[in-house]
Amino acid sequence: MKNKINKYDIGLILIIIVINVMILVFGSMNTADKGKKIAYVYSNNQLVGEYTLTEDYKTEFKVESGSGYNVIHIEGGKVWVQDASCPDKVCLHQGKISSDGEFIACLPNGLMITIVDNEKNENDSDIMTK
Ligand SMILES: [Zn+2]
Repeated sequence: MKNKINKYDIGLILIIIVINVMILVFGSMNTADKGKKIAYVYSNNQLVGEYTLTEDYKTEFKVESGSGYNVIHIEGGKVWVQDASCPDKVCLHQGKISSDGEFIACLPNGLMITIVDNEKNENDSDIMTK
C-alpha cells in the first residue's frame, strides 16, 4: 500500500517537473519558434478559444451567443467563418484570414476572431524593452 502511494507521488512529481521544464523550454524557444500564429476567438468580449495555426491543424466549432451562432473553421493555417446566423453575413464575406493583425468580426453576434503572430509580438516587445 505504501509503495503504491509512493509511486503515485513520484509520478505526480515527475509530471509536475516535466510540465515545468516544458514551460521553460517553450518560453525560451519563443523567438526560435518562427511564424507561430494563434487565433483568438472572442464572444461578447470574452475569450472563448485559442487555437495555434499550423498547416496540418484542422478543426471546426460553433460559437453561440445570446443572439445567434457562428461556425468557425480552421484549416491549413487559415481561419474563416463557415456558417453564421447573423442577417448581414458580413463575417462570412470577410473570407479567410491567416496573417498577424487580421481579424473577422460579426457584430450582430458579438463575435471576433483575431490572429496574433508570436514571432512578431516577440520582436515588438524586444523593441519596447531596448
Ligand atoms: Zn456575421
